[in-house]
Amino acid sequence: KANPEEDSNFLEDESTKIFARKVADHYSARTNQTLEEREASPIIHLKKLNNWIKSVLIQLYARRGDAVLDLACGKGGDLIKWDKAKIGYYVGIDIAEGSIEDCRTRYNGDADHHQRRKKFTFPARLICGDCYEVRLDKALADDAPFDICSCQFALHYSWSTEARARRALANVSALLRPGGTFIGTMPDANVIIKKLREAEGLFFGNSVYWIRFDEEFSEKKFKSSSPFGIKYKFHLEDAVDCPEWIVPFHVFKSLVEEYDMELIFVKNSHEFVHEYMKRPEYVELMRRLGALGDGNQDQSTLSQDEWEVAYLYLSFVLRKRGQPDRT
Ligand code: SAM
Repeated sequence: KANPEEDSNFLEDESTKIFARKVADHYSARTNQTLEEREASPIIHLKKLNNWIKSVLIQLYARRGDAVLDLACGKGGDLIKWDKAKIGYYVGIDIAEGSIEDCRTRYNGDADHHQRRKKFTFPARLICGDCYEVRLDKALADDAPFDICSCQFALHYSWSTEARARRALANVSALLRPGGTFIGTMPDANVIIKKLREAEGLFFGNSVYWIRFDEEFSEKKFKSSSPFGIKYKFHLEDAVDCPEWIVPFHVFKSLVEEYDMELIFVKNSHEFVHEYMKRPEYVELMRRLGALGDGNQDQSTLSQDEWEVAYLYLSFVLRKRGQPDRT
């Protein structure tokens, strides 16, 4: 069993830190868009679809009064979703200084460029830090335990080394109450590796994204060597341009078990859409967000190329073992 107390397992080397900084600088440099700029984005419907997926996850698993830990919260794009779920407390952490500043501005309601709204009803603590390096159980001892932890489109940044991947899961596990829930969305390694096999060379993509594996990548090495640190460069128009790491799902699944968490569900985004678009309340939510016209995959809204990017992601739900001590 993993012991998060053993700090020697969690040592960082210089190149790992440099990559973490690259990721942080990339996100920090992304400035807030005006509503007009956002609507003109070539991936606006994908952004809306991803917001729908996150909203569905939050509506399915958050309960009124919950204490929420949002790892890699970014600019606080999910604050409104948590508010709608009537949570009781929110802690958001992100490595990118610029993003945490934007998150703070949004929380304080000073310049919410997307919609004028009342202040959030829950108290919040916003912290700039590396969730995959720092021991959060100590830093957040006064805020824990949390009922729910969320890590949206970010957990794969922990997979650069085994130490960081373990630190991420040790943090979540130490901070969740028994029976607490961990929800997340991250790249679907099976899909990415399948596409790589179909590609000529180490590069593939379409009009809105591309992925390029490092020269040293080889199928043989992939199968035989460490499941951590398998790096590729990800470019998504108007959103991402930085190093990312493959998260082989079978390794993820067994690692979470070492940290006292069990897998409740995992769904590729395509499957997720098909599954939850059977429910009228989520069809209505999709209509309000404007990602897919009438719920069918519609060319006039989400493009084929955006739909292909959606296929690169999966959502997961984990539960911290143990008996909950509240009803
Ligand atoms: N979760 C937010 C959302 O769904 O809108 C932001 C997602 S964005 C694609 C990825 C985020 O992960 C960025 O804000 C980035 O700064 C953050 N991130 C990457 N590595 C991190 C780390 N080591 N610790 C904390 N945040 C990190």
